Amino acid sequence: MWGFSTEPEFQAKLDWMKHFVKDECEPLDLLFPHNGDPYDTGNATARAILRPLQEEVKRQGLWACHLGQHLGGPGYGQLKLGLMNEILGRSYWAPTVFGTAAPDTGNAEILAMFGTDQQKARYLQPLMDGEIVSCFSMTEPQAGSDPKEFVCRAWRDGDEWVIDGEKWFSSNARLASFLIVMAVTDPGASAYNRMSMFVVPADTPGINIVRNVGTLDEPFDDDRGTHGYIRYEQVRVPLDAILGGPGEGFKVAQARLGGGRIHHAMRTVGQCSRAIEMMVERAVSRRTQGRLLSEHEFVQGMIADSIIELEQFRLMVLKTAWMIDNEPHGAARTHIAMCKVAMAKVYHDIVQRAIQLHGSLGASNETPLARMWALVPSLALADGPTEVHRIQIAKSALKDAQPAPGLFPTDHNVTRRDAARRRHADVLVAAGAA
Ligand SMILES: Cc1cc2nc3c(=O)[nH]c(=O)nc-3n(C[C@H](O)[C@H](O)[C@H](O)COP(=O)(O)OP(=O)(O)OC[C@H]3O[C@@H](n4cnc5c(N)ncnc54)[C@H](O)[C@@H]3O)c2cc1C
Repeated sequence: MWGFSTEPEFQAKLDWMKHFVKDECEPLDLLFPHNGDPYDTGNATARAILRPLQEEVKRQGLWACHLGQHLGGPGYGQLKLGLMNEILGRSYWAPTVFGTAAPDTGNAEILAMFGTDQQKARYLQPLMDGEIVSCFSMTEPQAGSDPKEFVCRAWRDGDEWVIDGEKWFSSNARLASFLIVMAVTDPGASAYNRMSMFVVPADTPGINIVRNVGTLDEPFDDDRGTHGYIRYEQVRVPLDAILGGPGEGFKVAQARLGGGRIHHAMRTVGQCSRAIEMMVERAVSRRTQGRLLSEHEFVQGMIADSIIELEQFRLMVLKTAWMIDNEPHGAARTHIAMCKVAMAKVYHDIVQRAIQLHGSLGASNETPLARMWALVPSLALADGPTEVHRIQIAKSALKDAQPAPGLFPTDHNVTRRDAARRRHADVLVAAGAA
């Protein structure tokens, strides 16, 4: 059965979330606007406001819904999570209020999947409780899209691993209590078996943040950027700091990246909805040439295109979430890539139109559109650039493709018409149509 309705009990939860996010989370975006603020567990003022909100979310049974029951979460599944994330995506703080902020969600997932009991108790539990934040440290200054180019090394020395090398754009590094670091442990092994993953406490000697790199909307020179450029200098961790087994770094990374991508896409639906709502309100509020903006056809076209594109994108995201819930593990891989590619384009187009419709106000920093616009390029890069995902989608389509049997394509009109004539020759001849 195909269905597009939401069960009433869950719809009631979504309705509650809509009000809660608008009334309680969106104001935090303005009170504590820096990109790092939701992750700064040391900001006592922000935490004093945050804690009661998180308690309320827990009372509602909506806390940390990204983890399935087998991993210790409430197990709503990806489809319901998609509907929830559409609402959470509207506010920068909302994911933290609901315990579903990236990159902690992905890190929790791999700790739950691959962690030992000790690792779960030490890192996963406080992460799930929202007491600490974490960092995923994979990209390197000289290579991002292609892990085969990574050179950060780890080797065994007695009963320790020693990690040495550089990492780039490690989100929340300066705020994290621990970092999950990918390093080459067996340079001679195949591309997919040469790396391992390590869980490293942030206060381990040798972790040196070269600088905190800011995104487009962050000041250049205050070192409060959200993405750490890190030098790991002979960082020593015990043997049991490995996550998964030696050589399983690539496998562990893959396990978290799929979820990360689709969750971003879900939240992007929420951002786009917000931009469209702003567009619609502006169109019926502002006059030019003796008419409301909404009465100009160019403006109507912008609104219509935005609604159509968002609906297409949203359906693709929800279908992908459904596939993750209902089909064998890995079956949604290409669909996740499709969502990742579409996300960057739909977001760019809708936010750009919303800004255009708001005129100079849209180009200012006085509306949520400013932050949205700053995020546009990141959506085409974080969790892998658009090009890499397009290649994957095309390869999947081409994998089992067969060449045409003859000179002309299988769908050649003339060839097929002649075949149809041969097939129905009796009837056609009798009717004098041959
Ligand atoms: C907001 C944000 C947060 C991030 N957070 C983290 C994090 O927490 N941890 C972490 O480890 N990393 C993080 N990253 C890094 C991210 O994973 C990388 O940016 C991404 O993998 C691309 O790597 P790169 O930036 O080195 O680009 P490159 O690999 O240098 O690619 C640059 C460009 O080259 C082209 N290109 C690359 N490969 C191909 C190809 N196969 N075919 C055709 N063209 C290609 C594309 O145009 C691509 O955009 C984050 C990035 C952003 C923007």
